[in-house]
Amino acid sequence: MSGLALENVTKEFGSFTAVKNVDLTVPHGTFVCLLGPSGCGKTTLMRMIAGLDLPTGGAIKLDGTDITRVPTHKRELGMVFQSLALFPHLSVGENIAYSLRIRGTGKEDQKKRVDELLSMIHLPGYADRPVSKLSGGQRQRVAIARALAISPKLFLLDEPLSALDAKLREAMQVELRQLQQRLGITTIVVTHDQREAMTMADTVVVMNGGEIRQAAAPVEIYRRPADTFVADFIGMTNLIDFTTDSAGRVTVLGTAVEGLAAPGGLARGVLSVRPEDVHLTAPGPGAIAARVTFIRDLGGTIETFVEAGDKQIVAVSMPNARPDVHVGQEVGIRLSPEACVVLKS
Ligand code: ATP
Repeated sequence: MSGLALENVTKEFGSFTAVKNVDLTVPHGTFVCLLGPSGCGKTTLMRMIAGLDLPTGGAIKLDGTDITRVPTHKRELGMVFQSLALFPHLSVGENIAYSLRIRGTGKEDQKKRVDELLSMIHLPGYADRPVSKLSGGQRQRVAIARALAISPKLFLLDEPLSALDAKLREAMQVELRQLQQRLGITTIVVTHDQREAMTMADTVVVMNGGEIRQAAAPVEIYRRPADTFVADFIGMTNLIDFTTDSAGRVTVLGTAVEGLAAPGGLARGVLSVRPEDVHLTAPGPGAIAARVTFIRDLGGTIETFVEAGDKQIVAVSMPNARPDVHVGQEVGIRLSPEACVVLKS
């Protein structure tokens, strides 16, 4: 297969396992984000892909060749880290041309490539500027151009945008994704920011405790989370315990969800219901009894918090579908079966 393949990759530090039996294929030309909470093993996995750390088990293959023990400088990688590590005493052009110069590329070819990369990152004519005079976003682009100068087989970025302010960061996410698509370069980004992962990736790899919990397209991760960890980690969700009644119907908070059956005769478990799928209605038969406790109007969306039994549930609506309710009001909740993801507890 062309692309990257991780086969049963494990990393132990003494008795602690930071990465456990990771299997992952990254087809050529795709964009993968490793996403997860602090300490879940993202950076450790990335460092092994980069050749900066050796796995204690498993194999790493690039275009079918085992590179597990190939040193970093022979892997044809482009890397960008959070610190950027630009050379402050060199100009923009010298920074970008650095790896070309080391490889003995001729002066003319270096200049041609630098100009090409500068126009690609929307900084034409910046070659002679000192990097110290650039803004944060411009430095970011220069670090990206420097990593791409050798036309690497694999482009690796570890939290590349986390030093930027929120607005610039969002703009750079779109820019980075467009650049990757134009070049068709296989790219892996480590991030703990789910919005960033959802913006850029073909495949989001959600990790926890050194393991992959789910690897899938962003929408799939959001709509069909594999377990309660993924459901809770990605976006907002309501996790509600259910039991199955004698007729096999899923019952939550004392009310059966019409049309929903638990797969494999699961006797109990958890429903994940996104807030935009929670519909508030009048109380009555077939509706879960609830009471409005708080309303948060964020301008673009309205969040209505209700209490049902001892459970807090949040419903989100757009301003043009604002629920006509007030705090303290008794309401009903109806869950449509297609909006519920049935998970093991
Ligand atoms: P963050 O988002 O905070 O950077 P991460 O998901 O990238 O977290 P890692 O840096 O991969 O997490 O660390 C995973 C676990 O492995 C952590 O518990 C960390 O303390 C541990 N770890 C990482 N490097 C070493 C090391 N050299 N020696 C011992 N333990 C380590």
